[in-house]
Amino acid sequence: MTENNQTVFGKILRDEIKTDRIYEDEHCIAFKDLQPQAPVHILVIPRLHIASLSEADENQALLLGHLLLVAAKLAKMQGLIAWRTVINTGAEAGQTVFHLHIHVIGGRPLLWPPG
Ligand code: AMP
Repeated sequence: MTENNQTVFGKILRDEIKTDRIYEDEHCIAFKDLQPQAPVHILVIPRLHIASLSEADENQALLLGHLLLVAAKLAKMQGLIAWRTVINTGAEAGQTVFHLHIHVIGGRPLLWPPG
């Protein structure tokens, strides 16, 4: 359900904010990040509103696995052979949009550890 999801991603899911979807299926959509941190920077989000990974539960195990597999598929479709998948959880970890999302980042060397 997205009706009460007032986050920017809820608005994207309801098409109240336009974005170019590069992928969608019955469980999730994916689009390019507005402020890309690398040549490839995609966000994969579930249609279901889960505020963060911290809020996810066992009933969403299949969905979470699906999101990861979609992230890998899209990374490969973008021509990447190496990439980083990131889920920021909580404001102190950098989460700014409280609708679970997986960042897929690649196309340049990525340092570790992240800042
Ligand atoms: P996070 O900081 O992990 O919560 O990531 C949120 C991401 O959403 C940031 O990388 C933003 O650049 C991105 N973002 C915010 N608004 C939009 C939008 N309208 N379209 C695409 N990406 C967005």
